[in-house]
Order: sequence, then structure tokens, then C-alpha cells
Amino acid sequence: MKPAPFAYTKAKTLKEAVTLLAKHKDDARLLAGGQSLIATLNMRLSAPDLLIDINGIKNLNGIAKKGKYVEIGALARHAQVEHSDVIAKHAPLITLAMPHIGHPAIRNRGTFGGSIAFADPAAELPACLLALGGEIDIAGPRGKRKVKADAFFKGLFETALRPQEMITTIRIPAADKATRVGFAELARRHGDYAMVGLAASGRADGKRLRDLRLAYFGVGSTPVRAHHAEPALEDGDIDAAVRALAQDLNPPDDVQASGAVKTHLAGVLLRRVARQLDQALS
Ligand SMILES: Cc1cc2nc3c(=O)[nH]c(=O)nc-3n(C[C@H](O)[C@H](O)[C@H](O)COP(=O)(O)OP(=O)(O)OC[C@H]3O[C@@H](n4cnc5c(N)ncnc54)[C@H](O)[C@@H]3O)c2cc1C
Repeated sequence: MKPAPFAYTKAKTLKEAVTLLAKHKDDARLLAGGQSLIATLNMRLSAPDLLIDINGIKNLNGIAKKGKYVEIGALARHAQVEHSDVIAKHAPLITLAMPHIGHPAIRNRGTFGGSIAFADPAAELPACLLALGGEIDIAGPRGKRKVKADAFFKGLFETALRPQEMITTIRIPAADKATRVGFAELARRHGDYAMVGLAASGRADGKRLRDLRLAYFGVGSTPVRAHHAEPALEDGDIDAAVRALAQDLNPPDDVQASGAVKTHLAGVLLRRVARQLDQALS
């Protein structure tokens, strides 16, 4: 299928993009890597009057450690993040997740900000951001604001972003010696969206884990924290943690698998990720 007709403009500055968004409101869409947006236009799931291309905005694709945080510009491409030494050292969970996002051609164009804004419930990066306790910098006509990942993902493809706002930066607490991370997903073919996935982050305290955050994807309308499984795994009781998933997750049936199968797979992934976290402890 072909998209419905639309006008196109290329914003040169953040201010220009935000001004255009404020003027056209829900009739406009930002175009970043286009890897999700163009598909939704072609399928006529979305029919905006105007596309505002943000690829010409300078200084929106940087990756840097700033104090206790790693900052990733919204326009940083997946491939750039995947091969970044700064990310490997200071945000290793993201490095683990990156090769699972689509295929190289998609990672060459897709952007970090686009993935967070699109908020596909089966996507890797929203879950990683939730597991890491990151935050999102947003610019709008009334200035800038920050939203924590815990409050950003509201519902199916629904976020805290207002129609006239755009993401500028994603901020992640930088890993230190005590940081422990784990990542696993099950997909029908490598590069497909996950049937179920799990991103985990915690802190080593001797032989124990603290501040564990388990974020599942592909199990609901948003990435989902496993709040009951977290303390059980911190206590080192993997069987209790797997049992607790029944309280944490209620995945609906979808084209990939039934909810019951997904819950079973979530337990399998928890055991795999627990081993990664354990190895990191020893
Ligand atoms: C075949 C295929 C397989 C894929 N597999 C995976 C996968 O396994 N895992 C995965 O996570 N993703 C996958 N993707 C999606 C890919 O990661 C996209 O790059 C990503 O979802 C969107 O990023 P984008 O830069 O392409 O955004 P776009 O497609 O340009 O935009 C997506 C949406 O976000 C909005 N947007 C973009 N940037 C901003 C911003 N800075 N601020 C506010 N709103 C913004 C747009 O207006 C649009 O509504 C796949 C895509 C394809 C085509």
C-alpha cells in the first residue's frame, strides 16, 4: 500500500521543529529514522498532513558520559549506540540489547529517540530504559521537562509525550563497579520482535543483589516491571522469583503465542538472566 498524501518539511533547529509541532498539533508527525513511521503510513494506520523531518537538527545525536549519567541524543542511530565504547563501558545493558533490534539495515537508520517515542511494547529499548531507571528529556512550546521511564510508558503505543513535544535526550545512570545487568529474549527468528524479553539491572552487595529492576517486554501494552519477582531474586530464591511472575505478569494472547506460553517463557528467561547476574557476582 502507499501512504495517504502528506506535506514534508525539514526542520533545521529544535525550536523550528517544536514550533511546527505546536502549529500543526495532531496533524503532524516527526520523522526520525522512519523505520516504524513509514510502515504505519504505508499501512494507513496513520495519516498525518505533515511530516517534520528532524534529521537535519544538529547536536541531537551525541553519546557522552556527563557526571553520573550517560546521555544519548534522540537522533543517535541504533548502530551508533551498538558500537559506542561509551555505551559499552557505562551502559552495558544497552550494548547487550542492541544486536536484537531488527537487522543491520534497520539499525543503520532507526534512532534511540524514535524507539522510545514509538514505545512498541515488544521493543528492547523501552524495557532497557525502565530496567535502568532512566529518564527522558522533552522539549515543547512551553520549554523543557524531564520524565522518568517509570512514568513515561502509559499504554499501548502511548507515552507521556504530548502531541506538540519531542524527545531530545535519553539519560541513564552510568554503570559503576557494583552495577550488574542481564538481558535475554526469545524471538521466532533473530531480528524479529521478541515473543518475550527481559532486561535486568541491579547492584552487587557482596554476594547479594540489591536495587534489582526486572523489565519484561512483549508481555503487555507497555514494558512491565516484575515487582514481586525482584525481591525474591534479590534473596537468591530463583524458584520463588519464577513463581512470583504469576502475580507480576498477565500477558494477553497475541499472534506470537498464548498468554500461558508467554508466562512460561518469562520464567525461562528469568532463569537465564539470573545466571547472568549470578556470574557477574562471582
Ligand atoms: C523490519 C523491522 C524490524 C524491526 N525490528 C525491531 C525490533 O526487533 N526491535 C525494536 O525495538 N525495533 C524494531 N524495529 C523498529 C526500529 O527499532 C525503529 O527504528 C524504531 O522503532 C523507531 O525509530 P525511528 O527512528 O525509525 O523512528 P520513526 O519511525 O521515524 O518514528 C517513530 C515514531 O516516533 C516519533 N518520533 C521519532 N523521533 C521522535 C522524537 N525525537 N521525539 C518524539 N517523537 C519522535 C515519530 O513521530 C513516530 O511517531 C523494526 C523495524 C523494522 C522496519
